[in-house]
Amino acid sequence: MNIQDIHNLFLQCKSVSIDTRKIEKDSMFFAIKGENFDANTFAAKALELGALFVVVDNASYVIDQRTILVENSLETLQELAKFHRAYLKLPIIALTGSNGKTTTKELINVVIAKKYKTKATVGNLNNHIGVPLTLLSFAKETEIGIVEMGANHKKEIEFLCEIAQPDYGYITNFGKAHLEGFGGVQGVIEGKSEMYQYLAKNDKLVFVNLEDPIQIEKSAGIKSFTFGNNAAADLKIKSIKANPFVVIDYDNFSVESHLIGLYNANNINAAVAIGNYFKVEDQDIKQAIETYIPENNRSQLLRIGSNQIILDAYNANPSSMAVAITNFLQLENQNKVMILGDMFELGDESQQEHKLLVDSLLDQDKFICYLIGKSFYENKVAKDNIQFFETFDDFVEHLKTMHFDENTILVKGSRGMALERTLEYIK
Ligand code: ATP
Ligand code: MG
Repeated sequence: MNIQDIHNLFLQCKSVSIDTRKIEKDSMFFAIKGENFDANTFAAKALELGALFVVVDNASYVIDQRTILVENSLETLQELAKFHRAYLKLPIIALTGSNGKTTTKELINVVIAKKYKTKATVGNLNNHIGVPLTLLSFAKETEIGIVEMGANHKKEIEFLCEIAQPDYGYITNFGKAHLEGFGGVQGVIEGKSEMYQYLAKNDKLVFVNLEDPIQIEKSAGIKSFTFGNNAAADLKIKSIKANPFVVIDYDNFSVESHLIGLYNANNINAAVAIGNYFKVEDQDIKQAIETYIPENNRSQLLRIGSNQIILDAYNANPSSMAVAITNFLQLENQNKVMILGDMFELGDESQQEHKLLVDSLLDQDKFICYLIGKSFYENKVAKDNIQFFETFDDFVEHLKTMHFDENTILVKGSRGMALERTLEYIK
């Protein structure tokens, strides 16, 4: 069966599924091999649960005329997504970057949805499986698609762009994330810039943050729509404040967001610029940004008793940690406490990056800091206002003896540290 035939069958389906635990009725089920399982074995189950068709890549699992046998189910999913994208011909905005992709994607989506029927990546489905699933969620009535693309090694963004064929692109930042897979910061820059190469080659448009010299340099020569405080910017930014919520003044309007951290100003500016480009009314852009509340432990502001908590426990890497700390330390609040966890996936640079972070805290003492995890512990130093705990459990034992009153507390660490667990012990 060729891809066009498979696409015709796909059009009869309501959705695509790769997991029988979350399967929807009338979906097309793709049996994709994982590290520890062969999803071909779930094909029969998928049909039983209401899938209209199942795509398998092992002849032993062909059941009846509802089974589509292919060479490789994952590759078929990717080809089908590319075919579907070409079939729909809708404009697609793609974004990648080291930090802030999901936040920016959601902000762009709320802004653009004020004027168009949009569909965007759900949650964080941003890899070689998630991007095809996102594209296959776009329907005839979708007017603009927004696709988050993640990568932890080179050539991944190039591959995802070949599938999604974006018309517009934005790179949130080039930071120190996934250093292991990219082989250092230069590798991150090259890897993310694959999106610029795609846009250049296909004469597409890029959104550029003029505050970021790497964005300017790497996107040179591509059609662009720019934002920044520079008079030549297409969207001019007059002022940015964050105490703790980000407030931004533009020429014709201002936004008072529910996002914390100056780094979120970049994410908001990108969404406002894209809204501007697509001619969404200023007042609609303003309203979309002002009513957006982050979730999933991404820069949330919470209260526990008399304490204010900045919960940013979703993820951490040296870049996002540095901006979070800088931002936190410049708040005017008193009684500041930082609870920071190890940063993962840094490969050879892990020891060095944890040491750099510890060093950056040494000449300051207007806060109390708890550093948790093996990597921080290896860089233990003696300083009154900084305490090290090798494991989360050790830290919990300490927390149980503590009482916080009128503190402002920043909680941030890599996903594997799951530092949101500290909340139940803060009293
Ligand atoms: P993932 O790689 O997990 O998909 P992501 O790029 O989608 O992450 P978000 O989930 O939006 O990023 O944000 C994760 C964290 O990154 C935030 O909680 C914040 O600490 C930090 N962050 C967000 N935006 C920026 C930015 N523009 N620059 C630096 N750090 C940022
Ligand atoms: Mg994400």
